[in-house]
Amino acid sequence: MVSGELSKGLPKTADVVIVGSGVQGASIAYNLAKMGVRDVLVLDAGDLLTGSTGRCAAGIRAQWGGELNCKLAKASLDIFETLSDELGMDIGLHQGGYLIVAYLDSEFQQLKRNVQLQNSLGINSVILSHDEVKERFPALDISNAVGFTYHHRDGHADPFLTTLAYIEGAKRLGVNFYFRTKVTGIEARGDRVEGVQTSKGYISTKVVVNAAGPWARDIAQMVGLSIPVEPEAHEIVVTEPVPRILDPMVISFSGNFYMQQRPNGSFIMGMGPEPYAHPKDQYSLTWKFPYIMAQKVTKLLPALREVRLLRHWAGYYAVTPDRHPILGESRYVKGFYMSVGFSGHGFMLAPITGKLIAEMIIGKKPSIDVSSLRPERFEEGKLVFEPMVV
Ligand SMILES: Cc1cc2nc3c(=O)[nH]c(=O)nc-3n(C[C@H](O)[C@H](O)[C@H](O)COP(=O)(O)OP(=O)(O)OC[C@H]3O[C@@H](n4cnc5c(N)ncnc54)[C@H](O)[C@@H]3O)c2cc1C
Repeated sequence: MVSGELSKGLPKTADVVIVGSGVQGASIAYNLAKMGVRDVLVLDAGDLLTGSTGRCAAGIRAQWGGELNCKLAKASLDIFETLSDELGMDIGLHQGGYLIVAYLDSEFQQLKRNVQLQNSLGINSVILSHDEVKERFPALDISNAVGFTYHHRDGHADPFLTTLAYIEGAKRLGVNFYFRTKVTGIEARGDRVEGVQTSKGYISTKVVVNAAGPWARDIAQMVGLSIPVEPEAHEIVVTEPVPRILDPMVISFSGNFYMQQRPNGSFIMGMGPEPYAHPKDQYSLTWKFPYIMAQKVTKLLPALREVRLLRHWAGYYAVTPDRHPILGESRYVKGFYMSVGFSGHGFMLAPITGKLIAEMIIGKKPSIDVSSLRPERFEEGKLVFEPMVV
């Protein structure tokens, strides 16, 4: 468990204050400390993993349709593969692959173009025939599917263990985490950050990182910035554990669902917004969700008809107009960095985005050029397109 924070008084100064201790804040903190910045404070209004990270499906895939997402996801995957060793804690990585199922011809054409792009970037995804899918994943009923792509290195990790491993790794390097410590204001003088007001006192600092997930817009407003990050509630269900019948995460964009069998045998599954009324900004649950979800997945995996649902919860995506994150320092408020707006893929990108934000803060050229994801792209009308989001 994360220990000690509640008893310590809040320091009066810090080199860097990170708002939010989800997987993004934790990864940034660890990477900063690894790069030698030790006077880092991470503040969280809640308890450990009470934001989106603790509510996510934690899928990891390098199969994207946009070049930048492919590069970011591949770089993250490279890090995930050595992260347990690096952080000295098992993060629960399971690389059972991702099987993408197309139900439309146009969608399959797009998937084929994606595979070409992915292969050109060192991601060894493949197109699978119906026979190959039947042979590899016999539990699936693929009679009405049009085509498939697969990447064996994709998979999932445990979001709790991964974030905790980052937190413990950062703490070993001197970073301090404070929970139940809400940031209530950010002071700026001229165009520079000066400090952070919290529910437990004031901290003087020249660098603030907004890693507040679905609450990122409120933090940006504290320095007078309006950023288009909207919380969007997504429901998710998990079944009772059953003997292992499916290894890969299975996802379909036209089918609008994803599902995977966890190491303990439970299936976890979710989907993008459907045209039924789920309040966008509440954790509340609907009866329609498990009903629609069951209809979708039992067609593809008939064995699930006999399996009972165990839990059902909701969490927020933090959605931007182009469903890409906002990464970098504000042009208008120096020292105010953002790592927000990750939609449904902020877990899988955290290893690389944490590294990139840390590189920016220490003044190093980011190892992947993410200038197209700068905070100001919306006012410039320069949105970044990605066809492969759920
Ligand atoms: C149902 C669902 C399924 C998902 N599936 C996947 C998936 O398969 N793969 C994937 O990559 N991603 C997935 N995601 C997305 C992923 O969960 C998020 O992108 C990621 O967890 C974002 O991490 P974060 O650290 O930015 O945010 P969070 O984990 O939400 O952390 C933000 C933190 O900021 C804190 N905070 C907010 N305001 C303040 C304040 N004023 N002061 C101090 N602290 C504050 C909060 O308490 C919170 O702990 C899914 C999300 C959901 C909801």
